[in-house]
Amino acid sequence: MFNSLSDRLANTFKNLRGKGRLTEADIDATVREIRRALLDADVAVPVVREFAAHIKERALGAEVSEALNPSQQIVKIVNEELQQILGGETRRINMAKSGPTIIMLAGLQGAGKTTLAGKLAKWLKGKGHTPMLVASDLQRPNAVNQLKVIGERAGVPVFAPHPGVTSEFEEATGNPVQVARDGVAEARAKLHDVVIVDTAGRLGVDAELMAQARDIRDAIEPNEVLFVIDAMIGQDAVNTALAFNEGVDFTGVVLSKLDGDARGGAALSVASVTGKPIMFASTGENVDDFEQFHPDRMASRILDMGDVLTLIEQAEASWDKAEADRMAQKFVDQEDFTFDDFLAQMQQIRKMGSMKKMLMMMPGAAQIRQQLEQFDEKEIDRVEAIVRSMTPHERVAPKIINGSRRARIAKGSGVTVSEVNQLMERFAQAQKMMKKLASGNMAGLPGGMQM
Ligand code: GDP
Repeated sequence: MFNSLSDRLANTFKNLRGKGRLTEADIDATVREIRRALLDADVAVPVVREFAAHIKERALGAEVSEALNPSQQIVKIVNEELQQILGGETRRINMAKSGPTIIMLAGLQGAGKTTLAGKLAKWLKGKGHTPMLVASDLQRPNAVNQLKVIGERAGVPVFAPHPGVTSEFEEATGNPVQVARDGVAEARAKLHDVVIVDTAGRLGVDAELMAQARDIRDAIEPNEVLFVIDAMIGQDAVNTALAFNEGVDFTGVVLSKLDGDARGGAALSVASVTGKPIMFASTGENVDDFEQFHPDRMASRILDMGDVLTLIEQAEASWDKAEADRMAQKFVDQEDFTFDDFLAQMQQIRKMGSMKKMLMMMPGAAQIRQQLEQFDEKEIDRVEAIVRSMTPHERVAPKIINGSRRARIAKGSGVTVSEVNQLMERFAQAQKMMKKLASGNMAGLPGGMQM
């Protein structure tokens, strides 16, 4: 996500580091570099121009010349201005005061609307809402089925105009406006508090598509019209966004496919050129690859200052408190750390999603990106397979795992004996560390973490 932009900006700031005073020439050179980095990342020209002008004006002002550390002050200014481009404050869903909150999705075909419908529904459900999905995309063959599958995965009901769906509106016609209207009526009747209406897209913007989206909007009077834009389409993003803004007057933007390697900067321009906030980001094909968009946190991520808040939220959302309490108690009781505990901990980590994605949110992650990219998510699978090939007794008494048992475990889990040996060694270290921590003797910890 915005990797090359991140790298370029980091390099620019590196040149400033350690300078006690910044001359006008230093500032000019920095602003020029920032401008180039943004243009190369596909950020729209007028947005870049305005951004650079703001940075320059502030950089020449008192807040920098009087700062103890001028170069850090510049980073702070860039951070704040970047946050402004991205829409300023976090914009949350405008919930209906009574009846269901109606959210309509619009965008080009392939933008990621249908996938997003499922992600948004699951996310809302996790927050205690009772969303329903409505399949109003009758254009693309299979879109209705796709939504049904996605709804099942997200655990939310789908209203679809197909025979066989149990609904009093079963006879709904192939008219997308009617389907949307009936879907909303059903959501209201069944007391769903949110209804998400997926609509058809085309490969390019056309008048008929826009008219249909507008008709649906007028028929269901949504609380939010979310425009979904594929961050990988580059420069076209801005024109597409302008066309949809004109056509359906959307209320918020969703950036999709932010996991791609593309430059992505065009997507960064969308909030500025349309004046509409970015509300969500889609970061992969799985139903959990989704996050609320916080302009401040995204700016920090782009500047490699990390996004620890999102990291904590994701951890909290998937954290199993009972399991954490059980571990803590074991720790207090100074019980031996077993392979069963090891497995339970790994499952906690796995629930948080991709390890790589989480690590990338740590401050400074960009500097070790290459190592992080090599991180093999399958490593966790292998470790789990090894532990699962152990007998229950072996898991609680790992000392009995001798050579022949190791060979059996390796065979059972499809790895080499040396991989089993490595795991055993790592486990022994973890066990030793746990013991030390529990006994209050931390002198032996790496880095001398004494208290
Ligand atoms: P729609 O035509 O707008 O409904 O688009 P879809 O939801 O069908 O998505 C089009 C394709 O993009 C599908 O293959 C999705 O799996 C994929 N896709 C959607 N969102 C993302 C994302 O955030 N990242 C990645 N890598 N792929 C995505």
